[in-house]
Amino acid sequence: MKEIRTQVGIVGAGPAGLMLGHLLHRAGIGSIIIENRAQDYVIERVRAGVLEQSTVDLMIENGVGSRLQREGMPHDGIYINVFGKRRRIDMAELTGRRITVYGQNEVVKDLIAARGSSGRPLLFEVSDVSVHDLESDQPRIRFTKDDEVREIRCDFIAGCDGFHGICRPSIPARHIRIYERVYPFGWLGILANAPPSSPELVYSLHERGFALFSMRSNAVTRLYLQCAPDEDLSQWPDDRIWDELLTRLQSDDGWKPNVGPITQKGVTGMRSFVAEPMRFGRLFLAGDAAHIVPPTGAKGLNLAMADIWRLSRAVARYFESGCPDLLDQYSDDCLRRVWRAQQFSWWMTSMLHQPVTDNPFDSRRQRAELEYVTKSRAAMTSLAENYVGLPIEESISGG
Ligand SMILES: Cc1cc2nc3c(=O)[nH]c(=O)nc-3n(C[C@H](O)[C@H](O)[C@H](O)COP(=O)(O)OP(=O)(O)OC[C@H]3O[C@@H](n4cnc5c(N)ncnc54)[C@H](O)[C@@H]3O)c2cc1C
Repeated sequence: MKEIRTQVGIVGAGPAGLMLGHLLHRAGIGSIIIENRAQDYVIERVRAGVLEQSTVDLMIENGVGSRLQREGMPHDGIYINVFGKRRRIDMAELTGRRITVYGQNEVVKDLIAARGSSGRPLLFEVSDVSVHDLESDQPRIRFTKDDEVREIRCDFIAGCDGFHGICRPSIPARHIRIYERVYPFGWLGILANAPPSSPELVYSLHERGFALFSMRSNAVTRLYLQCAPDEDLSQWPDDRIWDELLTRLQSDDGWKPNVGPITQKGVTGMRSFVAEPMRFGRLFLAGDAAHIVPPTGAKGLNLAMADIWRLSRAVARYFESGCPDLLDQYSDDCLRRVWRAQQFSWWMTSMLHQPVTDNPFDSRRQRAELEYVTKSRAAMTSLAENYVGLPIEESISGG
């Protein structure tokens, strides 16, 4: 068996693992990133697209934001379409902050390029990954690459391997508590070669359910429809998808999305999930490995980046001074932001999706809430503050 030594072993090359490797490199700290998928698969995976201002600032300040600055699409507001009435929430005016639309796959591409320039190892297509001796001061990661079993010996392991990874399940059950809610609906998402017909996102609630209009570039539209969590895509030919999107999204002022060839489609279930604490011994969980939010609040990628900012500082401080204080605070500090985002994502999801109950009380109450949220300056400010995201170093609910 081949043995390799590094300071931080990182499992997973999604946005969390790649950003951690990058920030550690800038602090002069060595790491090895291992990923079980192929590089092309990781780059082409279509997922998040809304970056909070803090995520944008983090990328720019750390030298991986030049393409984002050129190609990202800054948005000052969003629209909410309440049963045909489209109203705008001016987030920049209400909060002084904005969001930027830039695909997660572009973020990943930029971070893989930065890793390449650093000369530090990033290994794709590894298999049989397992983590060991987590409570010792020399934890190990074992994996197979090119039919050879290898072992990384390190000071810390970062579990950045997403919701279905192996790091979280390697923590003994008695040391971890899970909080979870699974929603009775999912999103059918498409990418279409059609220029966006609105410069800003449109969240829509219609009698037939939720829909979201978004974009990835000046030529590509990204759209979602509320559907069953196990919706059968074979029942959704392109014409049916467009009929449903047009019905749910078009507003009384005559706005509707442009139609074009669909290049990608998929169904995603919706879940809220938190694992506490986000640390066991020398294993630190970050991003989707520790928490999942339903995508309505656009928080998943941004939470992953906030975790990584904290973890990189904590690890750097430890190697500089031997002081473990930030490592010891890591989980509590992250979880304050995570729970704020959980509450916001749950609220946006509940408010904007057609309830699955058939009690008419729920529909009337929901309509009253949406009227309030799109007309009261106080309510719009609250939504906007959460949507653009709090500065990373701030947390509302903790000391
Ligand atoms: C349809 C959809 C839309 C979304 N929209 C938004 C949005 O608008 N805004 C937002 O902020 N978030 C959004 N999200 C969430 C966002 O994509 C995730 O929160 C984000 O990918 C988290 O990054 P991560 O690095 O923690 O995890 P991941 O991106 O899941 O990366 C984990 C990596 O680990 C790898 N891995 C898994 N197991 C192993 C193993 N055993 N060994 C080695 N490697 C392993 C995986 O292949 C993967 O590359 C969306 C998600 C979906 C599915």
